[in-house]
Amino acid sequence: MYQAKDAGRATYKIFDSQMGEKVTKRIERERELVQAIQNNNFKLTYQPIVALETGEMLSVEALVRWHHPLHGIIQPDDFILIAEETGLILEIGNWVLAEACKQIKIWDQSFPQAKKLSMSVNLSGKQIANPDFFDFLVHTLEETKLQAKRLHLEITENTIVEDAEQALNTLSKISALGVELHLDDFGTGYSSIAYLHNFPIKALKIDKSFIHRLKNQGKGRALIEGIIHLATVLGLDVVAEGIELPEQLTLLKELNCGQGQGFYAAEPMYKEDMEFMLRKSGNIFDLNKE
Ligand code: C2E
Ligand code: MG
Ligand code: MG
Repeated sequence: MYQAKDAGRATYKIFDSQMGEKVTKRIERERELVQAIQNNNFKLTYQPIVALETGEMLSVEALVRWHHPLHGIIQPDDFILIAEETGLILEIGNWVLAEACKQIKIWDQSFPQAKKLSMSVNLSGKQIANPDFFDFLVHTLEETKLQAKRLHLEITENTIVEDAEQALNTLSKISALGVELHLDDFGTGYSSIAYLHNFPIKALKIDKSFIHRLKNQGKGRALIEGIIHLATVLGLDVVAEGIELPEQLTLLKELNCGQGQGFYAAEPMYKEDMEFMLRKSGNIFDLNKE
């Protein structure tokens, strides 16, 4: 069924032995995910989001990793979908949220400049659709004493797609708390622009596929220029994702893109490396390196 679904609407697939193997693997993965939750086998990495003009780190995005006892580190692309389909994302996502909020408050105490940072957390549609999520969020903010405005929740169109009315209701309540909602992977879905209109979005993150196609001239540049212009007239912040090359940084600065995230500035890092960096260079990145 999943393979037929993956191939698009109104399609069918005949079951064969290869699929049987895949199904067995998948069932195994689900069972392992349940165990991973019980054994707390998840860890967070943090990737800086910087001001392109000054190199100042403005926030960090929490990105989850599964530390599997046999297979080592498993990336989110290899388990988030299964976690969503099985509903396990509720527990994983809530753990991520609580852990990220706790972590930034711990950094506040050791690094004075950390107080200027915000924490970005990715949200799954399953969390927003869950009737208990809002209370969990309020409870987490109260418990950690993190100011709501320092929490940014990243959502995608897929987050909202299942029940738009219910999602709008929950997201409006979240926004009223002071938590910022950021639209992730902007440009890759069907109706991103409509969402900017209907939902209380504070910033958009241009999907990395656009940044990777960015050339000095041509459509790539024009598209990003258009997105930045749209965001500016709507009063939204813009973050360019996936900056890997100095040329991309230069072009984005030329186009007045305010913020960026990508391997060129910093890769996602575990808390120890983040602390090393906060201790050594504070919040400032040297973006003019060779
Ligand atoms: P995302 O939220 O769009 O996160 C950005 C992804 O791009 C991260 O991949 C990051 O490591 C990667 N990235 C950053 N800079 C660059 C770059 O310069 N080049 C390239 N090629 N990639 C870059 P990651 O950590 O593998 O996460 C993938 C996706 O998994 C995330 O995309 C997000 O949608 C999802 N995810 C991660 N953590 C969570 C979580 O806690 N909850 C939920 N629901 N989803 C999560
Ligand atoms: Mg994100
Ligand atoms: Mg993204």
